[in-house]
Amino acid sequence: MLVIPLALVDELLRQAVREGPREACGLLFGRSSGDHRNVAWIAELTNVATAPDAAFEMDPAGVLRREREGARRGLRQVGCYHSHPATSPRPSRRDTEGARQVLDDRGNRSYVIVGPQEHGVRTYVLRGGALVPELLVISRASLTLDSEATCR
Ligand SMILES: [Zn+2]
Repeated sequence: MLVIPLALVDELLRQAVREGPREACGLLFGRSSGDHRNVAWIAELTNVATAPDAAFEMDPAGVLRREREGARRGLRQVGCYHSHPATSPRPSRRDTEGARQVLDDRGNRSYVIVGPQEHGVRTYVLRGGALVPELLVISRASLTLDSEATCR
């Protein structure tokens, strides 16, 4: 299950619209406990794919920088995201192949796809080599970064 504050869902959609027709991408940082992930910070990254309107590839140096930044904030990476500017936010074959390379099969990271066309986001986890939908909860309260972990 992935919990995202409404304000951060908005941020994902705004980035997707701003970057269109290129796919937007980035990492999600927050806290996790078992199967329960809370997003506290969205780390935008530059899409360095050669055809950024049909694929995404996160800038590798940016990924390292963002991971250090996340660690400084006391957060861990709970997932990644990219947008489908013109199509439905469902995993493409290329998405599934990419996810198999970067995610393990325990479903402990969320794979979020932002769909500006349907004004929404969808989230998946890798299980049995396939990206399967996971429960998405949009919360009104934003996570306070220095509070106790809110995962129960
Ligand atoms: Zn995709």
